[in-house]
Amino acid sequence: MNYQVVKKNKVLLFDGAMGTMIKSYGLNINNSIEIYNFTEEETIKRIHRDYIKAGADIITTNTFGANKIRFKNDKYDIEEVISKGIKIAKEARDGNDRILIAYDIGPTGVGVKPVGTLTFDEAYEIFKKQIIIAEENEVDLILIETILNLEECKAAIKAAKDYSKLPVLCTFTLNVDGELFDGNSIENAIKEVNKLDIEAVGINCSPGVKDIYIIVEKIKELTEKEIMVQPNTRCYIDNLKDFIEISENEFSEEILKCIKKGAKIIGGCCGTTPRYTKKIKEKLSKL
Ligand SMILES: [Zn+2]
Repeated sequence: MNYQVVKKNKVLLFDGAMGTMIKSYGLNINNSIEIYNFTEEETIKRIHRDYIKAGADIITTNTFGANKIRFKNDKYDIEEVISKGIKIAKEARDGNDRILIAYDIGPTGVGVKPVGTLTFDEAYEIFKKQIIIAEENEVDLILIETILNLEECKAAIKAAKDYSKLPVLCTFTLNVDGELFDGNSIENAIKEVNKLDIEAVGINCSPGVKDIYIIVEKIKELTEKEIMVQPNTRCYIDNLKDFIEISENEFSEEILKCIKKGAKIIGGCCGTTPRYTKKIKEKLSKL
């Protein structure tokens, strides 16, 4: 089944964090966690399966940092890492074609000029290579996430549109002032991606789940595209100096508020686990 069919008339539920789950198995997440596609294959598969069991419609490949700049390992090249990540997700799906596989693209970590160090063309070439591998390995959609830099996002989207026919979803991550980390406002970012042929736009990770529906509401006013939200579990306190992790129940309540404001594609980022996915699923089934 493809994205368009699964999406019809329903809210789509993405899985939650990969890094958080890898850490819960006692593994180190300070280096490239994509290496676990080789050294901890069964653990990665189990994490995907636990999200599927919890009710996720879409699982996300363990490829966030698998790009030429970010991935640091001499033993495997990017092509092997991405292909293996997709293979594991497919095995976890185990022939159930109602479960979609999102090929996950994270930022390069260095950004595109003028804020970052890469030229647009250099970023485009990096993403192009990744997209070609994902396309060859037949994923269901492309997720470009944790976008900190608008120009980098445009380079990734252009590569995705030039080298695949897959649906493209993209989510920005914002600082506590509601801006991208390159200083662009969310208004400007949405205005720019509105010009591009993508399926959905939204936010993930920061600034946390508490009251994130206010940003969803703002995005709704700015775009006709589907809106996606995958927050982390943080709720900032003490004038933004500290934060608390909020529970599955509170998290899912905040997600429901996002749905009421127009979000159609939902899920979790850092801190979320299959327990969060399950709680959201329970609440979705009562809508
Ligand atoms: Zn996150």
